[in-house]
Amino acid sequence: MAYPIVIHPNTILTTPARPIDSITDELLIFLDQMRETMIAHDGVGLAAPQVGKNISIALVELDEETGLFEMIDPEIIFRSGTCVDVEGCLSVPGVYGTVERSKEVTVRYFDREGVQYEVTASGYLARCFQHEIDHLEGILFLDKIIERIPQEDLEKYMEEHQND
Ligand SMILES: [Zn+2]
Repeated sequence: MAYPIVIHPNTILTTPARPIDSITDELLIFLDQMRETMIAHDGVGLAAPQVGKNISIALVELDEETGLFEMIDPEIIFRSGTCVDVEGCLSVPGVYGTVERSKEVTVRYFDREGVQYEVTASGYLARCFQHEIDHLEGILFLDKIIERIPQEDLEKYMEEHQND
């Protein structure tokens, strides 16, 4: 079952998410439904508040190479550098803009088995982690946009900046 996406403005998108107490069967089903929802909406990341649940869960699946990250209670424990690139958000349809993010981050989270992981990422994967973890803090990329990019100029922007 894919959930409908909560669209901005909605208070759930600007409210910090609650930490997870325990990994229940219900939560595992929810994780599967979040993935279905992310795929159904053609997203590369999804945070639980975006489907109306104010709990600290985020998924990132950028491409086949990096695979799926199902993150319970994720937190960024290390950052370095900065870079600017374009972002969009399923909860803010039709809006794209450049955002400054850390170039590299280390994220600590629990997986669905309750095993703690630390993953270090850079580039667009690091950006996705930061965007999704912001959602769990009630922060939207809208608040961080430096320059809006009109949808029709997206492809051109990507081509010009692919080697940045
Ligand atoms: Zn988003």
